Amino acid sequence: MYIDGQWCEAASGARFDVTNPATGEVLDTVPDGDGRDAARAVEAAEKAFAGWAGLTAYQRAGYLAKAHALMMARKADLARQMTLEQGKPLKAALAEVQYGADFLQWYAEEAKRVYGETIPSQRADQRLLVIKQPVGVVAAITPWNYPVSMVTRKIGPALAAGCTVVLKPAEATPLCAVMMFRIFEEAGIPAGVVNLVTGRDPKPIGDALLTHPSVRKVTFTGSTAVGKMLASQAAQQMKRISLELGGHAPLIVYPDADPVLAAKGAAAVKFLNAGQACISPNRLFVHESILDTFLDVLRQRVDRLKAGNGLEDGVGIGPLVGPAAIDKVERQVADAVDKGATLVAGGQRLTDGGLDKGYFYAPTVLAGVTPDMTIYREETFGPVAPVIPFGDDDDVIAMANDSTYGLAAYVYTRDIGRAMRAFEGLRFGLVGINDINPTSAAAPFGGMKESGLGREGGRDGIAEYLETKLGGFSV
Ligand code: ADP
Repeated sequence: MYIDGQWCEAASGARFDVTNPATGEVLDTVPDGDGRDAARAVEAAEKAFAGWAGLTAYQRAGYLAKAHALMMARKADLARQMTLEQGKPLKAALAEVQYGADFLQWYAEEAKRVYGETIPSQRADQRLLVIKQPVGVVAAITPWNYPVSMVTRKIGPALAAGCTVVLKPAEATPLCAVMMFRIFEEAGIPAGVVNLVTGRDPKPIGDALLTHPSVRKVTFTGSTAVGKMLASQAAQQMKRISLELGGHAPLIVYPDADPVLAAKGAAAVKFLNAGQACISPNRLFVHESILDTFLDVLRQRVDRLKAGNGLEDGVGIGPLVGPAAIDKVERQVADAVDKGATLVAGGQRLTDGGLDKGYFYAPTVLAGVTPDMTIYREETFGPVAPVIPFGDDDDVIAMANDSTYGLAAYVYTRDIGRAMRAFEGLRFGLVGINDINPTSAAAPFGGMKESGLGREGGRDGIAEYLETKLGGFSV
């Protein structure tokens, strides 16, 4: 753990194992922190706050730029570490490191553009002046599926704004966070500005962060269930919150779309990170007139995907995070098949060729999925593509919106009017139109409805870490 500029053990002295989900091997151990460690980290962050907030934006930007350069220099090491502890193929890990580094660079630049405003007053003797100030100490809680980019997506804008941070990474992937903190240390970021608390059990650490009065902002990426709990805890002290939660993304393929392009796009985004992404398409609404071609191409793509250890050449899909993830996928697929869905590809755990030591599930395509199936409503978080046919009389936008989630949606059409109506009508925070990757450090990412609150990335992302202060001056 890294608290107040020092690498340290947990107060309890205990450590816990980090394992490789592809092989089941123990990779390393990290300190098993608890509430005491979290409180100490918050106090360090509180102590460092005035000094960090008091630097110029140019000085803070300088530290972020250094951290960015170090990340780029260590891209290969970070990616390898990510593949080892999280499982995604090396190529995808490299892409994530690049995406993660982008946040440091972009917010190094944006730090210098935190503008206030002056407002004309109705009174001749009055001046109204608005300034932006950092909210204070930030508690950041991150998930295991994107173990590098979720760290920088929070720490980049927080530091740029002048906040200090305590990070609690997911228990499955603390080693990437440790590597990132070595980078922050080497970038010369002053003691207490960034602090890292690792732990096997998130609850006591979360409780300490959420109840400490010095924490003024909580930023969380993870499940909707935990997000709701954190939001209710945060409400007790009216801490600011940003929540990036679950999703159940629709992907709509209209009859005028190119079904080959759409199926290729669907396969690429669906099986990314073995479907363990909040923006993974979980409901593929495909017009019945192009369904056969779409399914053929999707099946061909799946056939070409090689499952295995992400460090090996040619592997396109890695393991799931653990046994519970496999159970959930098995349960959803069995329920769908029971209720009449057809297995077009996959549909079972993979164990041959040494895969039994890890948590591998075959990339799977289910056709004929209907609203009575669990997979239609419940977030999947696995490599299963449920295909739902629709006809001319169906209001596919209403079908897509029929979810408690509202994070990402995808649309394939060549009709500009249809594209615009879908873009405006979908109740989702991100909409890809013939585009499977509508994400960038420069653009706001976040969900509607139960997918969360607030946005990360872009101008909106730094606003989450800033207070607005009004000054009225009588002159
Ligand atoms: P997932 O189901 O994707 O693992 P979680 O919401 O459980 O999602 O985990 C996301 C992050 O939230 C992780 O860092 C995890 O340790 C943390 N977390 C889980 N439960 C709690 C809790 N009770 N308090 C604080 N953090 C928690």
